[in-house]
Amino acid sequence: MSVLRKVINQLETPRDQRPLGSGWLSGALALLASLAGLLMVLLRWFPETLSYPEIAFIQDSGAVTVALRFVLLAGYALALISLILSTRKTLGWTALAISVVASLMATSQPTFGGGTSQSLYFGLDYFIINVLIVGFLFVPLERFFPARSEQTVFRPEWQEDMFYYLISSMMVQVLGFITLAPANMVNAQVALDDFRIHIVNLPFLVQVIIIMAATDLVQYWVHRAFHMVPFLWRFHAIHHSTKKMDWLAGARMHLMEIAVLRSLTALPMFTLGFRPEAIQGYLLIVYFYSSFIHANIGWKLGFLERFFVTPRFHHWHHGSDRDAIDINYASHFPIYDWLFGTHHLPETDWPENYGVVGDNVPKGYWKQFIHPFVKDKPKPPTA
Ligand SMILES: [Zn+2]
Ligand SMILES: [Zn+2]
Repeated sequence: MSVLRKVINQLETPRDQRPLGSGWLSGALALLASLAGLLMVLLRWFPETLSYPEIAFIQDSGAVTVALRFVLLAGYALALISLILSTRKTLGWTALAISVVASLMATSQPTFGGGTSQSLYFGLDYFIINVLIVGFLFVPLERFFPARSEQTVFRPEWQEDMFYYLISSMMVQVLGFITLAPANMVNAQVALDDFRIHIVNLPFLVQVIIIMAATDLVQYWVHRAFHMVPFLWRFHAIHHSTKKMDWLAGARMHLMEIAVLRSLTALPMFTLGFRPEAIQGYLLIVYFYSSFIHANIGWKLGFLERFFVTPRFHHWHHGSDRDAIDINYASHFPIYDWLFGTHHLPETDWPENYGVVGDNVPKGYWKQFIHPFVKDKPKPPTA
């Protein structure tokens, strides 16, 4: 079914099936706002199509610039509300996509006055750029070299995981602040100046490798704790609840876990005195690396698998088979799993199934958000 058909279907939802709070109204208004925004931008882009002098003011009026921003912002906000409320997400995603296209067009138009050259709205630009770059890189790789060839790009629950991606991209500013708090505390307490001078003088690549090794050691133990401590597992189980692995699956992670994991792994990074370029280099690598190890890519990497975490290694971590439980915690260097006795990588096999044993994690972002805080309903006895 085409997107247009789906949009129309959702718009035509009978009145009794769309009570207030169902996300229909916000979705419809979002679509309206985003289309209005797109139209305004198009009129600015192609002034020659504007043969009506009555509306020529739209070209250069400051008030129109303000109105355009307002309309696009409304499109974003309403689309998000609709995505949160509605179980059918076509309207929300469509409005969001149109708003994004309109915003990108608006900011890239040279004569667009009023100083809109700064970042777009609330980290949405960050999200779009991420998804475009990472998606364009990994979707073709997954199609050409699939580990599971039957899996489609738009596999079940991809929308939920895209929503995770969206939320964590938008939270990037807030999270950045929270996650640096422990490192700032350590910096204020501990004098490491002599040590830092040694670090800062090391070559760039060596610094990046040290950051990777140090953060992965911290990450290993934090990750292992999230598996071993029942209260923490309730959060981490959400990351493991995905039954299809691909580049998007890694985005599924509870905000609390993201905050804890990032702040603790940031500790060595921001206290040992690395150069900012090295930290940025590391962050860039990690960004692609975490998409890579979740991706549905079936490369046979031979001896490299001994030294680096590969998709197959991390897929085993996500396996729900009996011999795939509580293994392979490292995210860069499998040596930590060798050292601490959790390494598991059969010669060539991939795990049979993915997911959480018992499968008690609900579906959908908000249900999963509150899942760690609520008691499980007792399961009906099975015959
Ligand atoms: Zn895990
Ligand atoms: Zn994972």
